[in-house]
Amino acid sequence: MPLALELAWFASTVLFVIGLRRLSSPTRARSGIWCAGGGMSLAIIATALHPGLGGNYSLILAAMVLGGGIALLHARRVDMASIPQVVALYNGLGGIAAAGIGMLVLLNVTQYGALVKALAVLSGLIGCISFAGSMFAYLRLTGRFSRREDFAKRQVAYLANGALVLLLGLILATSATAHPVLLLAFAILAISFGLLMTLPTSAADMPVLISMYNALTGLAVALDGFVLENPTMMVAGTIVFAAGSLLTRLMARAVNRRLTEIMYSGFGITADGQVRTQARDHVNKIDARDAAVDMAYADRILIVPGYGMATAQAQHKLRELTQLLEERGVHTGFAIHPVAGRMPGHMNVLLAEAGVPYEKISDLNDINAEFSQVDVVLVVGANDIVNPAARDDPDSPLYGMPILDVDQAKRVIVVKRGDGTGYAGVENALLFSPVSRVLFGDARDTVQDLIMAIKGLD
Ligand code: NDP
Repeated sequence: MPLALELAWFASTVLFVIGLRRLSSPTRARSGIWCAGGGMSLAIIATALHPGLGGNYSLILAAMVLGGGIALLHARRVDMASIPQVVALYNGLGGIAAAGIGMLVLLNVTQYGALVKALAVLSGLIGCISFAGSMFAYLRLTGRFSRREDFAKRQVAYLANGALVLLLGLILATSATAHPVLLLAFAILAISFGLLMTLPTSAADMPVLISMYNALTGLAVALDGFVLENPTMMVAGTIVFAAGSLLTRLMARAVNRRLTEIMYSGFGITADGQVRTQARDHVNKIDARDAAVDMAYADRILIVPGYGMATAQAQHKLRELTQLLEERGVHTGFAIHPVAGRMPGHMNVLLAEAGVPYEKISDLNDINAEFSQVDVVLVVGANDIVNPAARDDPDSPLYGMPILDVDQAKRVIVVKRGDGTGYAGVENALLFSPVSRVLFGDARDTVQDLIMAIKGLD
């Protein structure tokens, strides 16, 4: 292999690592994306110049232009709230591409040794599972399958499917000749295994599962890297695998649940619209004018955004509201829970998009001790992440999940539309706290009303 090619692959690997490192800070994340993108471009160009490529340049170019063009057009139309399903879609495509490499090796089996064949079987299996699970997650999140799908004897079908696919994999890995029909059956069974694994998961749990499939796609790519002796694929795949695994663990831990529970329990049924709160008639309500007075004459206000803020796209209005309050001498800030919304960093991305300065944003560990010194907490479309039952009620399904202790503040104003209970489907004890007042309405319209009411105070 030419030295220049190896150096280019090495440089692209370094760029991936630097890119990932920079992504861990909001201020450097944009340059991290450019860095990783540069690494990928370099890897593609270097591979295109590989002497063993075989001259299929027109086909490769056509595929790149077509695929890249569709992705570019699609990405421009994606709004922030749809990011989880888009990640699922592209991750699924990555999974099937990785599986394809393993399958091609198994079609040309005579050229490879036992270890390479075993790795190819693994990458084919994992890639197909990731493809099936991710595509199903995509369809669930885009509303194609609104209910959790399950059927009697699914566990039996799942185990039988798993045993069969492993058996076929073993035959393919140890065979000296290619078996296209067996290979096709292997791919179909691996895909159905991934589907059976994902079917019973609720829509609200999908983001954690997508993160797991993301890790699996990374693993399949890393295995392909060993098969093709391509160090860039090895390193990039391993990075995705490691980052995806850590993220899955963090997300599962932040909601205080095990991955197996997420995959098999009925927790989260509200996302399918089955549980409603009875709170509306029993809470202390407040109107926008009174809420505006509370806020305008406070010394310190913290805003806690949640999923409802994201769906209402209220971040720009919130930014305007905080600017208005700051002009009146009120200290404002945002408190972010690690699993607020429906994807990691959901709130941070939206607030950054609205131009909220990073220093105004605090995470749970940094801010929790300060709520007792806060005059008003404005909870905008958040529910589970501020539910004191998670801290105080051992019988609550949320018990043990870390929350933002907003009920320690002097006044809490909760903005919500009506009787929705949020992701976990449990009543929010915060709504009944003596310090709480509920301001009913859509997050964006209500924040606009608050802005108008505060302006009207002058
Ligand atoms: P929740 O889903 O718990 O609550 C959302 C709240 O927003 C509801 O009370 C709802 O009430 C209200 N709401 C919905 N739409 C609007 C709107 N347009 N205007 C005003 N209010 C609205 O969200 P949280 O952010 O509090 O919690 C996130 C949950 O998601 C956690 O349980 C977490 O475990 C889970 N999760 C998070 C993941 C992540 O990575 N971030 C991944 C997987 C799960 P109403 O309908 O009455 O308006």
